[in-house]
Amino acid sequence: MVEVTNAPEGYDGPGFFATSLDKVVGMARKNSIWPLPFATSCCGIEFMSTMGAHYDLARFGSERLSFSPRQADLLMVMGTISKKMGPVLKQVYEQMAEPRWVLSVGACASSGGIFDTYSVLQGIDRVIPVDVYVPGCPPRPEQIIDGVLKIQELVQNESVRRRSSPEYIALLESYGIR
Ligand code: SF4
Repeated sequence: MVEVTNAPEGYDGPGFFATSLDKVVGMARKNSIWPLPFATSCCGIEFMSTMGAHYDLARFGSERLSFSPRQADLLMVMGTISKKMGPVLKQVYEQMAEPRWVLSVGACASSGGIFDTYSVLQGIDRVIPVDVYVPGCPPRPEQIIDGVLKIQELVQNESVRRRSSPEYIALLESYGIR
């Protein structure tokens, strides 16, 4: 069933409704997230299921996947990321325009998972900032959807000024990103 999203908080009366710019922008962004699936192994298969008819991520406005970083605002990292792949992942992240969010799906992307080895990155937050982590090996599609809903919460409540704040700039600089 398709539902119309709720209006943001505000003041209404006969013939008018007033709210803040932050809330309108947040509502629009939240319901039109374009994910870039960066899937390297088994967690990617769970993502395919998440996009299928049964779980249907399209219900949350995210059916339009982007394989171009420049037209994506949510980087979904799913699978084991080797150390060699780290710079590639970072480059993809850097090519995305602001505002951008990152969802780390599964144990491997979040912490290296069971692969505590010389060749596997022990968590993608070693190379890029992460907004939400989804636990599990593999996480079920319901968990991936829960992660997307948590991203939506962040998106909805984010101030339009956050991306130019000194704290955010310092966060990116700590990753060597400008
Ligand atoms: S977390 Fe588990 S299911 Fe996901 S990529 Fe790693 S080994 Fe595969």
